[in-house]
Amino acid sequence: MPLSFDLTEEQKALVETARGFTRDRIIPVAAKCDHDSKFPEDVYRAAWELGLVGPIVPEAYGGVGACELDHTLIVEEMAYGCSGIQTSITANSLAATPVILAGNDEQKKKYLGMLTSEPVFAAYATTEPAAGSDVAGMQTRVTKHGDDYVLDGQKCFITNASWARWYVIFATVDPAKKHRGIMGFIVDRDTPGLSIGKKEDKMGQRASDTATIILEDVKVPKKNLLADEGHGFKLAMQTFDRTRPDIGAMAVGVMRRALDECTRYALERKTFGVPIAQHQAIQFMLADMAMKIEATKLLVQKAAWMLDEGAPSSIVSAYAKAFGADSAMQVTTDAVQIFGGNGYMRDYPVEKLMRDAKILQIYEGTSQIQRIVIARNVMASSG
Ligand SMILES: Cc1cc2nc3c(=O)[nH]c(=O)nc-3n(C[C@H](O)[C@H](O)[C@H](O)COP(=O)(O)OP(=O)(O)OC[C@H]3O[C@@H](n4cnc5c(N)ncnc54)[C@H](O)[C@@H]3O)c2cc1C
Repeated sequence: MPLSFDLTEEQKALVETARGFTRDRIIPVAAKCDHDSKFPEDVYRAAWELGLVGPIVPEAYGGVGACELDHTLIVEEMAYGCSGIQTSITANSLAATPVILAGNDEQKKKYLGMLTSEPVFAAYATTEPAAGSDVAGMQTRVTKHGDDYVLDGQKCFITNASWARWYVIFATVDPAKKHRGIMGFIVDRDTPGLSIGKKEDKMGQRASDTATIILEDVKVPKKNLLADEGHGFKLAMQTFDRTRPDIGAMAVGVMRRALDECTRYALERKTFGVPIAQHQAIQFMLADMAMKIEATKLLVQKAAWMLDEGAPSSIVSAYAKAFGADSAMQVTTDAVQIFGGNGYMRDYPVEKLMRDAKILQIYEGTSQIQRIVIARNVMASSG
C-alpha cells in the first residue's frame, strides 16, 4: 500500500476549526497579551468550549480522545497565532499525559474529569533551580508519613503554575539515588504548604504564565501517588516522548507564520527599484524557510504516527523537537533579517516570533539534551 500523507475528512475539519479559532480569537489579542504579559482567560474558555484544550483526554473521562497526530494539528494552528497563548493551552495536555499513562481509574476520573468538566488549568513540574536538564538531579524531597507523603522543595519555571487547579509533581526519596529515587504525585492547588512564588518576566511567550511552586511540608495522600519510587523518572521521560512532537508542531506553526509574513513583506518592500523578493538573497531565505517547515512537519507526523501506533518513539520525538526548535530559531531570525530595520521594531510581527521561538530550544529538554538522546541511540545501534 502506498504511504499516505492525506488527512481524513475529520482531521481537515479539525484543522479548519483550530485555524478559524486562531484567526478570530488568538491573532487579534496576541500582540497585546505579549506586551502586557497577560494570558487571555476568555480565549482559553472559548478554546475549551471547542474541545481544543487537552483534547488527548480519553472520551471515558469526558475528553475528545484525540490521537497524537490530531493533537499536533491543533498545536500547529494555534502556534501560528501566538505560541505563548498556545503553550499555556497545550500545557494541560502536558499535565494530563502522565495521568493518562500511569493514573488509576479513580485518579483519572477525578483529575482528567476536572479538566473536561470546566475550563481549569493543570501543570507539570520537574524543573528546579538546581536541576533542569538533569532531571535525575532533583532535590525536592518526599518523605513517608504513615500512609501519606510529604513534599518539600521548589519547582521553577512551571507553565501555568499560577493558574493550575492541580499539578503533577516529581520528587525524590533521596537525591543520591538519582533516577532510581524519583516518585510522581498529583497535588491539589489548595493543599496546605503549597504556594506560588515569583511569576517570571520573560523574553518571549509572554502571554504564557511561568512561575515557581514552593512546597513546604505539603502532605499528599497516598491515593495521589502516580509513580512509586523507581518509576517516577521513567514516567517523566515517557511523558516527554509523547509531548516533544508537540514542540515540533509549535515550531511548524511559528515558521509558517514567519514565512507568510515575510513573503507578503518581500513582495511589497522595494529596494534599488524592485521588490526585495526579486533579490536572490531574499528568495534563498524564503526557500530555506519553506524547506524547514516541510522537513519539521514530516518529522512531527512520523513521531505522532509512531506514538499512535504504540511504537517506541523517543528518537523520532527528539528529532522532531530539536530539528523543529533549531529550525524555528533560524527561520524567525531570518524573518527579522528580511524585514530589515522594521523587523527589529515591535510595530511588526516578526520580532515576537523570534523571541517566542527561542524557548522551543530550551523547554522539555534543550536542543543539546535532544542531541544527547539521539547520539546515544546512534552509538548504541552502531556495529
Ligand atoms: C518559559 C519556560 C517554561 C517552562 N515550563 C516548564 C514546565 O511547565 N515544567 C517544567 O518542569 N519545566 C519547565 N521549564 C523548564 C525547562 O524545561 C528547563 O529550563 C530546561 O529543561 C533547561 O533546564 P535549565 O534551565 O536548568 O538549564 P540547564 O540544565 O542548567 O542547562 C544550561 C545549558 O547547559 C546545557 N547542558 C546541560 N547539560 C548538558 C549536557 N549534559 N551536555 C551538553 N549541554 C548540557 C543545556 O542545553 C543549556 O544550554 C520551562 C522553562 C521555561 C523557560
